[in-house]
Amino acid sequence: MKRRDTLGLLAVLLKAPDTLAAGSQANIVAVRVWPAQEYTRVTLESDKPLAVKHFLVDAPHRLVIDIDGLELSPGLRDLIGKVKADDPFITGVRVGQNTPTVVRIVLDLRQPAAPQIFTLAPVAAYKHRLVFDLYPKVTADPLVALAQDGGKPAGVAAPPSPASPAQRAQAAASAVNDALGELIQKIERPAEKPAPGRANLPSAPVPSAPVSTVPAAPAASAPPSAPAASKPTAVPTPAPAASAPAVSAPPGPAAPRIDQLIIIALDPGHGGEDPGAVGPSGLREKDVVLAVAHKLRERLTANANIRVLMTRDADFFVPLHERVRKARRVQADLFVSIHADAFITPQARGASVFVLSDGAATSAAARWMADRENAADMVGGVNVGAATNDANVLRALLDMSTTAQIKDSLKLGGEVLGQIGKVGKLHKPRVEQAGFAVLKAPDIPSILVETAFISNPDEEKKLRDPEYQDQLVDALATGIARYFAKNPPMQRKRSATL
Ligand SMILES: [Zn+2]
Repeated sequence: MKRRDTLGLLAVLLKAPDTLAAGSQANIVAVRVWPAQEYTRVTLESDKPLAVKHFLVDAPHRLVIDIDGLELSPGLRDLIGKVKADDPFITGVRVGQNTPTVVRIVLDLRQPAAPQIFTLAPVAAYKHRLVFDLYPKVTADPLVALAQDGGKPAGVAAPPSPASPAQRAQAAASAVNDALGELIQKIERPAEKPAPGRANLPSAPVPSAPVSTVPAAPAASAPPSAPAASKPTAVPTPAPAASAPAVSAPPGPAAPRIDQLIIIALDPGHGGEDPGAVGPSGLREKDVVLAVAHKLRERLTANANIRVLMTRDADFFVPLHERVRKARRVQADLFVSIHADAFITPQARGASVFVLSDGAATSAAARWMADRENAADMVGGVNVGAATNDANVLRALLDMSTTAQIKDSLKLGGEVLGQIGKVGKLHKPRVEQAGFAVLKAPDIPSILVETAFISNPDEEKKLRDPEYQDQLVDALATGIARYFAKNPPMQRKRSATL
């Protein structure tokens, strides 16, 4: 390695000095930081691939990155100003010229991190990318996060269980029915104030309480949270004293147990390095679908028995298979992916609902859309090198037969399409099918909603309008409620380390 570098350098030195300067140095074109509770990504974009070495230092925690063939430049120094004060992982950045050809970046870390560092070849509008993903060493249990969602901790103050299993089952069933009735009522008579505040600002950081939303963030002192994927043991009878999270409001008298909850996975498409489609006036798909998802979450969780898992709740990239995995880890009852894509012609308009196909796509347009969505990982920047055994197992699982899932998904899609058709135009009057990677959970009814064509100037304008977003959210929520009314969710054996 070293020797070859030296030989390479010798070869270059034999050329004229000006070609040395032009040929060997890379130039930074852009630096980007994507902070999120789940992980913070730092991207250095350059006109040539960068060679990098890194190591971790303890006390205080730091990540040191040495980049070969690079000179300190104003573009690189920009990195320092791009780290936000409330970044969950990075407290500061230092950049220096370590040797004449090596730039050293030191990231001061807020917590011990498990970094993933990898490069991406040019794709879409991007040149070469060097990516540092900072993950926490201890990841949060998504079920715990869900249970604490909305300040209504599930399971924490569960009423004492009725005596017999039959009574318990009946209690659970009626809880679910109550939840559905309540949901449908709420939807048919929407609340006067839809509280648009937070939902309109999807990427705004929440500086006051980053810790409260992710229980295991500074996990050093927290009790070891069992990995959520581990065996779902018997239905937990939680111990209130030990588990009540300090940040939550006191539990209400009727807090539901986690095994009685309806869990809906909402999947705002794209995010982070992947903007999705961009409208003629600059509206980005990733922002508008996040705003819609936040509103939908608020609408759905007005019901105490519903929890929403967001596959992303901020502006960061989540690989497609990871979105599916998150939904499966909490045994979601539904998966709803939200998009607003572009088409080649600005005339294309109307909403569409897609489900998975087990063979050919139902139309060329559906296939085109699936190919487009499936390319998100390339643009967003997935670390292919980190493909673990888990990921391979998951991939095999996702290729399994999904006939029953498709059947349920078509029912859900039909309900949602029917409601969306009342709000705006439909692109096609029926649910379409194609091989969308994100819809492949074999056991969760899954739909992908293209809310509108952001490439159409009229539809872009509508998507930007909070009132139209509210109508869309009404339609989605009503479609979901109607699906549950006809297809009540199964009792699940969920367990969380509560
Ligand atoms: Zn999309």
